[in-house]
Amino acid sequence: MGKLLVVGSVALDSVKTPFGEVTEALGGSATFFCTAASYFADIQLIAVVGEDFPSEHLAVLKRDRVDLNGLERRPGQTFRWRGEYSHKLNEAKTIDTQLNVFETFRPSVPESYRTPEQLFLANIDPELQLMVLEQVQRPSIVALDTMNFWIDGKIEALRKVLRKSDVLIINDGEAQALGGNRNLVQVSRIIRSWGPRTLIIKRGEYGVVMFHDDAVFALPAYPLESLKDPTGAGDSFAGGFMGFLASASVVDEQSFRQAVVYGSVMASFAVQSFSIDRLATLTDQDIKNRYMEFSQLTMFQA
Ligand code: AMP
Repeated sequence: MGKLLVVGSVALDSVKTPFGEVTEALGGSATFFCTAASYFADIQLIAVVGEDFPSEHLAVLKRDRVDLNGLERRPGQTFRWRGEYSHKLNEAKTIDTQLNVFETFRPSVPESYRTPEQLFLANIDPELQLMVLEQVQRPSIVALDTMNFWIDGKIEALRKVLRKSDVLIINDGEAQALGGNRNLVQVSRIIRSWGPRTLIIKRGEYGVVMFHDDAVFALPAYPLESLKDPTGAGDSFAGGFMGFLASASVVDEQSFRQAVVYGSVMASFAVQSFSIDRLATLTDQDIKNRYMEFSQLTMFQA
């Protein structure tokens, strides 16, 4: 089985939701991705943290199937993100973003990371995504995530990454901003004309829609009675999605659909706690059970 390489942020997140708050908890797009994907495949991580990154967080990030040789520790402060959610949990309000060590980070891909089977460019500066993409042999699938911060600030670099990608995983507000249109079907046509063959639009509690070649696949979100913190749902979705594809023996339209379900399973666990507390402590049986519940949830007679 091939390796799944990810570049993204490892962060200290301070988050407030209607159900509680945390200060400088372990977060970051790559953190959620690696943790979710590690239930399915072997992961190699490229990221940077500062001298202040707590060793307790490093211990949680370290998992059997996660290779941290590409995680650099640099002089300076770790990336910090502060966000808040109102009762409308679908959208994070960014209060503050401090790039810190990411400002001068120039990723250098270790030799042992240069032939990944698949590559996930998690939410991070698109110029850094490009640098990683240019240092590896073309993987079978390149997927990426991004956010308004980069759509507004680095659209040219982002368009370059899109040209070289197969799958874009993005939330609905960001898809509308990127495609310059409110209608998601039109947005899918516009964005896919720029490169990616597959567009996956995350719609928070309403689920997810995948446009893949000529097919459209839609899945509701798992109906949770209590939800604590939506942070990382998108990255955990991507981790389940890519992790499953990395472990699949055949990659076809059916496996893309199954991958969307595994992505939704991992996202549903991520939002049940702050940080990766729940996501990091699952069993394979927990994942299987929820996957089967999704099957029940969506089954009907044709
Ligand atoms: P998600 O909720 O899945 O969209 O991602 C949340 C994670 O993204 C948080 O843990 C943040 O640390 C991280 N994040 C927020 N803003 C940025 C940014 N501009 N660049 C990279 N990562 C970010």
